[in-house]
Amino acid sequence: MDTIIKNGLIVTADGRFEGSIGIVGEEIAGIYAPGEEPEAAEVIDAAGLAVMPGAIDTHSHHREGSEPGFEYKETIETATLQCAVGGVTTTVGMPNVNPPVNSAELLRRQFAVYEREAYVDYNFNPAGTVLDEMPELATMGIIAFKVFMVVDSGRPYPHMSGIGVHEHGRLFRIMKECARLGHPLMVHPHDQSLMTAIEEEFWARGERDCLAYAKAYAAHDGLLWDSSVALLLRLAKAADCHLHILHVQTEGTVKMIRQAKAEGQKVTCEINPWAIFLGCDWATVERLGSYALSYWVPEKNLPELWAGLNDGTIDMVATDHAPHTREEKEWGWTDGWKAHTGTQSTQHYLSLCLTAAHQGKLSLESVVRLCCTEPARVFGIEKKGEIRPGYDADLVLVDLDREYTIRDEDALTRVGWTPYAGQTVTGVPVRTILRGRTVFAGGKVVGAKGYGRLARGG
Ligand SMILES: [Zn+2]
Repeated sequence: MDTIIKNGLIVTADGRFEGSIGIVGEEIAGIYAPGEEPEAAEVIDAAGLAVMPGAIDTHSHHREGSEPGFEYKETIETATLQCAVGGVTTTVGMPNVNPPVNSAELLRRQFAVYEREAYVDYNFNPAGTVLDEMPELATMGIIAFKVFMVVDSGRPYPHMSGIGVHEHGRLFRIMKECARLGHPLMVHPHDQSLMTAIEEEFWARGERDCLAYAKAYAAHDGLLWDSSVALLLRLAKAADCHLHILHVQTEGTVKMIRQAKAEGQKVTCEINPWAIFLGCDWATVERLGSYALSYWVPEKNLPELWAGLNDGTIDMVATDHAPHTREEKEWGWTDGWKAHTGTQSTQHYLSLCLTAAHQGKLSLESVVRLCCTEPARVFGIEKKGEIRPGYDADLVLVDLDREYTIRDEDALTRVGWTPYAGQTVTGVPVRTILRGRTVFAGGKVVGAKGYGRLARGG
């Protein structure tokens, strides 16, 4: 063996047990009962720690494209440094970079930047908005196509042209092409015509600040979200397309997805940390304004969201990591529609989920299922997401009892702040191992830029 990790509590999606993990080269070679492990060149003592598969984040905005544009918000380097610290061994980028990625040539260029810059393994979800480009994109190892149904009003970002589709007929054609190519379609649900009607009521009353913005998106008990998800489910059923719904945040949506799954429809979905740890508390929205907003999730939705996380209706936690500068958030105090939406979370979401386990809202096994195993299984990411011989030795050692209060000073995001500052978590990654090599330990990133590799989808 090259490495043995001994004396740890191994946690998988199915259970937990004391044992040791042997690593040869980049892969897990064996799992052994305590005292039965073979000799190894390197022995890592995990006494008192939990050993989990590395987290896999299938939805992250790394901001850096193949041409200059949004790297003042984040770069692939800074994003993947946060991943290493946060126990995330695979991260998947989103197409709203410059230029927005919707063709094979642009994806090749985008992958080239990752190959040079990434500290952890990666993939990238191209926009499925150019039908002629989709067959070639489908051969490039991607996990899914992505479309936003959003056309922003009042700001040029984060939902720029070239990656949004809100015409239902076009969406249906894209879904049929995804079905033919055997790839899931990730969709940010939205309905701009409906949103315009809702927004104009607020604006007519002179309500334009971040609190009005928060209320508008949640208006009429989540109408915007529920109606667009209902449409998406019906279109995807007709197209026989694997629909992956992003940003689940209402009880109505959870119920619809649960029903569709019960009827055998191929649908999966994610929840984002902001929906259950940040934007779900009106006091926080009032205090932080646009700094807290991806979206406001009224508290009445929380019981169904937690039920969905526990019963498997919600398949995974993905970050929707989306950093913006303070200036871009500050606008929100007077114009919530001008502030850029999105919140950064890659560095801390595993800790936030472990804290939920500590509080009894989820089991530890469910945290592994939601953050590690299901993302790999749903998208067919090869050799990732499980502690199993032959799989990549992507592991995170966690001190489940360690408390830590999140601080802006520790946030490695390029923008230098985090909306979670001040929150105390219980459960902190202390060592991250990627394909057999330690990339974070002793509070420091020890991995190398460029070590990250394409984690291929199925
Ligand atoms: Zn997003």
